[in-house]
Amino acid sequence: MPTLVMKFGGTSVANLDRIARASKRVALEVANGYNVIVVVSAMSGKTNELVGWVNETSPLYDAREYDAVVSSGENVTAGLMALRLQEMDIPARSWQGWQVPVQTTSAHANARIEAIPTDNIEAKFADGMKVAVVAGFQGISPEGRITTLGRGGSDTTAVAFAAAFGAERCDIYTDVDGVYTTDPRITSKARKLDRIAFEEMLELASLGAKVLQTRSVELAMRYRVKLRVLSSFEEPSDQAGTLVCAEEDIMENNVVAGVAYSRDEAKMTLISVADRPGIAAAIFGPLADAGVNVDMIVQNISEEGRTDMTFSCPFDQVKRAQKAMEDAKASGSINFHDLVADEGVAKVSIVGIGMRSHAGVAAKMFATLRDEGINIKVITTSEIKVSVLIDRKYMELAVQALHDAFELEKAA
Ligand code: ADP
Ligand code: ASP
Ligand code: MG
Repeated sequence: MPTLVMKFGGTSVANLDRIARASKRVALEVANGYNVIVVVSAMSGKTNELVGWVNETSPLYDAREYDAVVSSGENVTAGLMALRLQEMDIPARSWQGWQVPVQTTSAHANARIEAIPTDNIEAKFADGMKVAVVAGFQGISPEGRITTLGRGGSDTTAVAFAAAFGAERCDIYTDVDGVYTTDPRITSKARKLDRIAFEEMLELASLGAKVLQTRSVELAMRYRVKLRVLSSFEEPSDQAGTLVCAEEDIMENNVVAGVAYSRDEAKMTLISVADRPGIAAAIFGPLADAGVNVDMIVQNISEEGRTDMTFSCPFDQVKRAQKAMEDAKASGSINFHDLVADEGVAKVSIVGIGMRSHAGVAAKMFATLRDEGINIKVITTSEIKVSVLIDRKYMELAVQALHDAFELEKAA
């Protein structure tokens, strides 16, 4: 029998009514002849609450215990969804990550899936089970401890299951009806895309568009999973949603496909570090060891052998970064005058495969921001994206202005 993966995000399982509604959609696919693997998130707001409790208890927490706590939200929704389906006379069973088992690395709070053996669930399907309801976002490490896959990780669970089971499709049900040219919450001019290329979706996701977790797109691209994003609130239709697919399967393209933003950024500057061979390694090695995800980096011109080094990292890793730098200073491996944290910044990015063959896109972005009086603090570029760090208070304005400047409300 063909297998389908259906993932329901937090808002789609936010309460018992929503779980019932999602279950009806699952029942439709069972009636269509599929064995269904449902992947569920925690009820919306739940994971944030759990993360808050961990931070309040232990600001520099042991990530193993963080995972023990924050993985629990998904267990509740998996059990409830299985019960709801059973009430509808559909043979269903819930599965926590360790039961499958979803084997991951030991990188707690940010683990990667290494393997998903299919035999346990296949055996149950062979036995007459119609729906396996899998708790998303979680797995088990080689040491036998519960891990989580990073925020938004249920998307990755879903795609990984679709790849492992050779599913016909992986449908991601969420609170928007597809992938838009930018977050529809920021501008009403955002336009839903019928299709988006894997590469573009990958960049948008990694630059902050949280509609899909970055790693889920990576996996879908690698294993050619047919990935669709659609709303759990609209009536079912074959045409619904956005298909994330290979570049060759898209006929027309705007030069810029979308605008992404991330408001959870911080800019940190080490003032007056010695400009000598090995200084970058001496700074960024300890930051990596402390689990700080450094993004943008700028090294200033040096004066009299000393320089300033600026980097950005997620807002909630500032304390970790500060501690890593203070420890490195105390051990004598680096020396700096001061460490200044600017916690009021945001990153805004434009993404598009068309940039490969069009000159002047970055210049147009900078001119647009200039016209709005927005100062750029740091810039990074790659073949298909340009990102800038700006004051957070201008973030929405910047997204709207760029969306207008590149005329994203119009289809190509
Ligand atoms: P879920 O709980 O279903 O996983 P998320 O909140 O993680 O849902 O992701 C959906 C949200 O992503 C939308 O409500 C929207 O605000 C946001 N989003 C950001 N960028 C985009 C985009 N380009 N297209 C669609 N949604 C986007
Ligand atoms: N519940 C987790 C989160 O909020 C995972 C997910 O929903 O994808 O990050
Ligand atoms: Mg999500």
